[in-house]
Amino acid sequence: MTNLNLISPALAYIDGQWVGHPEGKTFGVNNPANGKSLAQVPDMGTIEAQEAIEAAAQAFELWRKQTAIVRADLLWRWYELIRAHAEVLAELITAEQGKPLAEARGEVAYGNSFVRWFAEEARRSYGTLIPTESPDRRLMVIKQPVGVVAAITPWNFPLAMITRKLAPALAAGCTVVLKPSEETPLTALALAKLAEMAGIPPGVLNVVTGLDAPMLGLLFCTHPTVRKLSFTGSTAVGKRLMQQSADGLKRLSLELGGNAPFIVFDDADLNAAVEGAIVAKYRNGGQTCVCANRILVQDAVYESFVEKFSQAVSFLQVGQGDEPQVDIGPLINPRALEKVKGLLADAQAKGAHIVLGGKPHALGGTFFEPTVLTEAKPAMLLSQEEIFGPVAPIYRFRTEEEAISLANSTPYGLAAYFYGRDIGRVWRVAEALEYGMVGVNTGLVSTAVAPFGGIKHSGLGREGAREGLEEYLQIKYMALGGL
Ligand code: NAP
Repeated sequence: MTNLNLISPALAYIDGQWVGHPEGKTFGVNNPANGKSLAQVPDMGTIEAQEAIEAAAQAFELWRKQTAIVRADLLWRWYELIRAHAEVLAELITAEQGKPLAEARGEVAYGNSFVRWFAEEARRSYGTLIPTESPDRRLMVIKQPVGVVAAITPWNFPLAMITRKLAPALAAGCTVVLKPSEETPLTALALAKLAEMAGIPPGVLNVVTGLDAPMLGLLFCTHPTVRKLSFTGSTAVGKRLMQQSADGLKRLSLELGGNAPFIVFDDADLNAAVEGAIVAKYRNGGQTCVCANRILVQDAVYESFVEKFSQAVSFLQVGQGDEPQVDIGPLINPRALEKVKGLLADAQAKGAHIVLGGKPHALGGTFFEPTVLTEAKPAMLLSQEEIFGPVAPIYRFRTEEEAISLANSTPYGLAAYFYGRDIGRVWRVAEALEYGMVGVNTGLVSTAVAPFGGIKHSGLGREGAREGLEEYLQIKYMALGGL
């Protein structure tokens, strides 16, 4: 394995300087697969975060005035450098997050596709000229960068959740202070290192690592210089940040939790549905916001789906992400393991039947067996919460109406999936699902070119696509009179 310190300096990055905590306070980053220490990074507090906000404010004055093509070229250079360092970045992701190396490589390519996309979109923040209602007036709309952005990101995609925010923010002309998850700060710092190498000016991108997320979050929400907060993480924390931001009326993007239904209708291609369900459920060991949380299968195909699906799951290999052939790595930490165990115990007590797995893996640590359970019911806790582990509960339904009602019976509304061939039903169901994203005959919806995001308790705003740039732009209308 490459020397990971070469790429990730393990220091915070403020105003173009790599800095430690003034009194040397640090916290440890460990490999979740074996508990080994990877690095110590600075445990920054509010004073250092304020310095970062001030640096971002100063840099904004120059960055906002750069032409779109200058910003685009710098993003392109960043994209090229990420691509050139893809392998070491993937190793870093696997080391600090635990996902299999093949998935980590996929994350680098996926995450970097946002940098490329927004390098292209940087030049397209067009305004409009509005046909006027009086001959001596001209009406126009221009788009301008929002200002200093604070970004808070989770551990489950240590690279992609960052580029989805930073690339559009920088493309729009905003400057950023990023606080990555304490579990996975090294990838964030590596990205900053590559941004520095790309020539992105000091202060445009700042990374503040720290253990006290609530304190840093409160500062971001209340600091008058921060004009926008972009957060990806749990719904509970997202709501808290929204409340804290109310006084300052900050622009908000909130990419929050999900509870994705995966519906299999009786006319589905079952083999394709199994393949899609494996991807939608077990990617990152079940630790994604768009993971299939509830698999709903129509009565007539229930038994055959369970059989085929369980067989496919039984082939999944559990192990350390840097070992070949591994499909599922460890859960992120012991708390996650306890949560999965608790949800399973509750489901069993309420009548679920375990077909496969069901307990911590023999490897120990936070490894968990890929698990399939049948006769899942809405009253079980795992129907109501994100499982965030390799556990697939399967529900039985009879009619289309019942499937839609079950699928929508959650406060969340991020991603939903269904398999079926009847064209009328495809339209009806896709329109009836109360979700921001719907995968029809596919278990994978994420791409930089489409708007990613949720409704209801899954958040506000979109990342990626044309819409992703709008999140960092504000509208100015200008009326020119006296022509
Ligand atoms: P989390 O506990 O909400 O943490 C997310 C980020 O917020 C981390 O950087 C965390 O810092 C920080 N944080 C925690 N408490 C905070 C507070 N009071 N104020 C400010 N920041 C705070 O979520 P997670 O466990 O890392 O990530 C999993 C969640 O993210 C799941 O719910 C998942 O569905 C969601 N997610 C959503 C999307 C999407 O696009 N919709 C994508 C990925 C993940 P520390 O880690 O340092 O504590």
